[in-house]
Amino acid sequence: MTQLIDTHTHLYLPEFCGEDPAGGSSAVRRAINAGVGHLIFPNVDLSTIAPMQALAREFPGRISCANGLHPTEVNASWRDVLQQILDAEDTALPVVAIGEVGIDLYWDKTFREEQMQAFSRQCRIAVERRLPLIIHCREGLDEVLEVLSDFPRLPAVFHSFGGTHEDVRRIRRLGDYYFGINGIVTFKNSRLREVLPEIGLDRILLETDSPYLAPVPFRGKRNESAYLPHICAHIAQSMEVTPEAVAAATTAGAARLFNLALAE
Ligand SMILES: [Zn+2]
Repeated sequence: MTQLIDTHTHLYLPEFCGEDPAGGSSAVRRAINAGVGHLIFPNVDLSTIAPMQALAREFPGRISCANGLHPTEVNASWRDVLQQILDAEDTALPVVAIGEVGIDLYWDKTFREEQMQAFSRQCRIAVERRLPLIIHCREGLDEVLEVLSDFPRLPAVFHSFGGTHEDVRRIRRLGDYYFGINGIVTFKNSRLREVLPEIGLDRILLETDSPYLAPVPFRGKRNESAYLPHICAHIAQSMEVTPEAVAAATTAGAARLFNLALAE
């Protein structure tokens, strides 16, 4: 079977590496053994850069990084923090995207303006560096689309997409984007599976968003990239195609968006 790509996973977080420094490495090995040939690590904030890079260095050719400042970590001093994050980038590691970036007004609306400014600044960086974006959008689709409209044709994925048919249409009025599908699609009460045909296999990317959003039958537990085949199988069942068809299309999509050179 075609190798899968986990396009969004945080195996470097304390949930894996907190008590056992080798915990992240074991999780990467379990993912590879489960058929996940490549993983993309999006950054969160200044504290996550070093552990992210350390784990990526252990698996050359298997892990790519994205660099950026997550919207929930944006506050009044975002400019300074973002500069430090960019300065900490390791040029010896493959950086394939700016992310994760975007708008999150679910937890806190205090820094709405700053979130939009930080997102816009990071869109500009992506354009300059010719890199795609990994977009985190939670209760902020109006704001995300407003900022993105200043950057036509900037390639991006809407990570952890859980929206409606109408959301897909609104997003597509602006551009040709990818949609990251994770364990949400396996949840019993989710209507996301009905939206999959509208997105189409050629614009779906697989992701786990580990350690969050574990798919059924692991719902509520710590998620990890080795569970990606469950998400692939669920999408295949919903769309009435084979898991191999989902693997082939989503891996090709990820390689295209992130310009990946995949190991055999
Ligand atoms: Zn994330």
